[in-house]
Amino acid sequence: MRCGLNAGEALKADFEAPEGLSEAEKESLCCDVTALLERIRFLGDRVDALMNVHHASILVIDPQTGQIIDGNKQSVARYAGSRERLLAMSVDEINTLSRSEIAAKMKQAVSNRHHFEFRHKLIDGSVQDVDVYSGPIMFDGHQALISFIHDATRRKATERKLHLLATTDPLTKCSNHRHFLSGLRREFRRAKRRQGGLGFAMVDLDHFKRINDTFGHLVGDRLLRRVAGVLQKRLSGHGDLGRLGGEEFGIVLSEASAERADHVLNDLRTSVRAVVVHTDQGPASCTISVGAALISPADSNEMSLMSRADQALYSAKAEGRDRVAIF
Ligand code: GH3
Ligand code: MG
Ligand code: MG
Repeated sequence: MRCGLNAGEALKADFEAPEGLSEAEKESLCCDVTALLERIRFLGDRVDALMNVHHASILVIDPQTGQIIDGNKQSVARYAGSRERLLAMSVDEINTLSRSEIAAKMKQAVSNRHHFEFRHKLIDGSVQDVDVYSGPIMFDGHQALISFIHDATRRKATERKLHLLATTDPLTKCSNHRHFLSGLRREFRRAKRRQGGLGFAMVDLDHFKRINDTFGHLVGDRLLRRVAGVLQKRLSGHGDLGRLGGEEFGIVLSEASAERADHVLNDLRTSVRAVVVHTDQGPASCTISVGAALISPADSNEMSLMSRADQALYSAKAEGRDRVAIF
């Protein structure tokens, strides 16, 4: 990294003793300038050393154009392979965001925001999660941006794992109750805003207690997992599945009409009938009952939609199970 040396050289070249000074005064002033230059050179070397021993990759960027104007050894090794190549690069060859998004982020970095989470393209073709700490700096007399870049792969992987644990049901791997309901709430508000369609369905496994009583809880778990897998697979693209608890699942059907909901839900019902878990005591299988409701202008929140679906499920059970009722 060069850091300020050019400014020192420019100062020396431009130096001219003012008129009217005695030779002794000129000599003394020249000594002061030489000492100042040495000081600048010394500080420049210190900054160079600091930049290159720092474990972060450091880039100095022109915030107007995104052009890279300096970088430390770590940046050369990560992004370019040679210093010449690095200095010919623009930050949009590194950052996976679009040009306009990068321009907006650089604007923030020179004013009020200093931490960013980006994905960077490395020289080996891989893409890495990074934490970037940026701020304004004067470089060769111009306003520039200095960025300290740290590999965030492990932190992001841990965050993803924690997110999965917090949002997924461990047995069936579909959304857990809390995550599913927050999705339903979001979809409900969206449908209201756009005056679009939305369906909600409750799925309950029929006589599931008998499965546990006949085959044991472990077989019950296997069947529950298989049923969830089939629901998830058949729903793909038509709606979102979540485990409400026990042997009950919820489904959000976006943009659903009554015919569409009827078709999709009956397809789920017949697909579940085909699920069989083979055991020493014979095959274990089950049917499902489904109660669904479609959003109406009278629904002020998702609770009324859920309540109608619950009533529809009750009616599907009462009418003999293994059926779909839509209210
Ligand atoms: P219905 O057709 O009226 O829904 O009958 P049901 O037997 O399914 O209903 P009930 O609510 O009486 O029983 C639900 C059963 O589901 C009881 C419970 O042991 C079983 N169950 C709930 N969660 C799990 C689970 O995680 N694993 C297993 N193996 N069984 C579960
Ligand atoms: Mg139940
Ligand atoms: Mg049941």
